[in-house]
Amino acid sequence: MKYDLSKISRLDLDNLLQPLEELKNCLICPRNCGVDRFSRKLGYCRSDASFYISSICIHRGEEPPISGKNGICNVFFGHCNLQCIYCQNIQISTNRNRSAAHRMSLKHVLEEILNCLNAGCESVGFVSPSHFVPQFKVIVNALHQMDIHPVIVYNTNGYDKVETLREIESLVDVYLPDFKYIDPLLAKVYSDSSDYPEIAKSALCEMYKQKGSTLLLDENGQAVRGILVRHLVLPGHIENSKGVLKYISEEISTSLKISLMSQYHPTPRVIDVEPINRLLSENEYQEVIHAFNEYGFRNGWIQEMDSSNNYRPDFDQEHPFEY
Ligand code: SF4
Repeated sequence: MKYDLSKISRLDLDNLLQPLEELKNCLICPRNCGVDRFSRKLGYCRSDASFYISSICIHRGEEPPISGKNGICNVFFGHCNLQCIYCQNIQISTNRNRSAAHRMSLKHVLEEILNCLNAGCESVGFVSPSHFVPQFKVIVNALHQMDIHPVIVYNTNGYDKVETLREIESLVDVYLPDFKYIDPLLAKVYSDSSDYPEIAKSALCEMYKQKGSTLLLDENGQAVRGILVRHLVLPGHIENSKGVLKYISEEISTSLKISLMSQYHPTPRVIDVEPINRLLSENEYQEVIHAFNEYGFRNGWIQEMDSSNNYRPDFDQEHPFEY
């Protein structure tokens, strides 16, 4: 089905933009800054009330049920409420420097999304949305107002408030959260968030409460409802990875689908930071896969060891994942 872009001009914008009011006293993520994002005084994420987006493009490199047969239309927000020192998307996620993102009008955002849907995408993924939840609501509500209902994927770092997740329950079809750390010290040193483990645990429990453990697929194998948890195995920190898996197996469910990622690649910023200044070794990855099986997980995705060469986007390019 081809969507008619002229529908965008008939949207009731005043009504649609209402969720942005929340940004006048921003408490939408666990940083709880309480700033007015319409003013010049910004919070931890250095993000204002605009649609600050670095790229809207078709991405085929996600897990097969997320990409689907035609790729997913991914909306990459700029900045982040975590500042992981090893982030592969540093061009767009850094809050310090000018990032490779720009302010877009809602009309432009919707046009780009409809272009991707018209090219065959059946799902729309919002990448790093935790600090842009009101804008996320506006975009999804606008699609629904036009009677357009793609699969909505909330692709998050896991640093989300439970209250915020409850507000978006009816808008999200598939949660795609990271669960990065069980170790608060690692969370503090690498992501400036010693409370990450507790926040991510609560967030994942809430997602599980909303969607259960079944990742529902359509006839083409594309995820249409559920949760897929991602965990990036960091070199030198396999005990952290095992701890994440242990927690999920004991406190949530071994039926949850897990994507165990070996794709870590050190960026120039961590070249002197041991032990994350190197690639993951095969032995380390195998040990984590062994733990995955030992804890009783049976469903998930693992990567080839050379995957570290395949996931280094360049957001200065129009198509960041094609190189
Ligand atoms: S979204 Fe940004 S401004 Fe709002 S609480 Fe989180 S870090 Fe602070």
